[in-house]
Amino acid sequence: MNGAIERLLSVLFCKRCAICGRIIGQEEEICSLCRADLPTIGSNICPFCGRDRANCVCEGDEFAFDGAAAPFYYGGKARHLIHQLKFYGQRELTPLLAVFMETRVKEAFPSEQFDLIVPVPMHRSERREREYNHSALLGKELSRRLGIPLREKAITKVRETKRQRGLPAGERRTNLSGAFSACLPDWAKTILLVDDVLTTGSTAGECAKALKKAGAQQVYCITCAATVLEHGNGTKENL
Ligand SMILES: [Zn+2]
Ligand SMILES: [Zn+2]
Repeated sequence: MNGAIERLLSVLFCKRCAICGRIIGQEEEICSLCRADLPTIGSNICPFCGRDRANCVCEGDEFAFDGAAAPFYYGGKARHLIHQLKFYGQRELTPLLAVFMETRVKEAFPSEQFDLIVPVPMHRSERREREYNHSALLGKELSRRLGIPLREKAITKVRETKRQRGLPAGERRTNLSGAFSACLPDWAKTILLVDDVLTTGSTAGECAKALKKAGAQQVYCITCAATVLEHGNGTKENL
C-alpha cells in the first residue's frame, strides 16, 4: 500500500485516549499522561472505606456494608470523567470507568463470590434531569465484564428524601435513614453494590441495610471514586 495512504488510515482508525484524544496503543484505554493525572488510591488501603489508611476517618463498623473500594479519589481527571458521565450525557465513558472499577473489585475483594450486582437507585430530582441512571450503566458494564448477574431495580426508594449533595454529614445520614427497600432472589447472599462516588458512606450504608433486610449476608460497595473526608466530615473535593 502507498505509504501516505497507510499513514492516513492509521491516523483515522487508531485508538485514542478517552480523555485527551492522543493516539494510544490498542490495548490501552487512556494515554500515560492522563493515567499519571488520575488521583489513584494507593496500596495501603482501609478495607472498610476503601481509602488509603492516611485518608481513612471511618470507625470501621459504622455502616451496614462489609467493605468498600474505589479506584480513584474524587478529584482531578477522575472527577472530570464522572461529571462527564453523570451530567453531560457522555455514556461512552461507562466502559472506561468500569475497567478501573473491575480491576479494583478484583484487588479489593479477591476471595468474594458475588451472586448479584445491584446499583444504587437515583434520587427523584436526578431522574427528572437525566434519562439514565449512571450507576445502573456502570453496574451493567461491570456485570458483563465480571460475569455476575445484575438486578437493576433490586433497591427502591420507599420515601422521598432531600438530595444528598450539599447536606452536612450528620444530616446525610438521617436524611436517608430507612429510605430504601430491597427485594432479592433467595440465592443472592453476597452483593456487589455499585455507585459513582462514596462520600460519607451514608447512601451505601442505607442501601446495604435494605439489602441485608431482604436476605443478603454480605454487601460490598464499589464506586468510581471516594472523596477525601476531613475530620469533622467536611469533604475536600479539590484534590
Ligand atoms: Zn490522554
Ligand atoms: Zn476507613
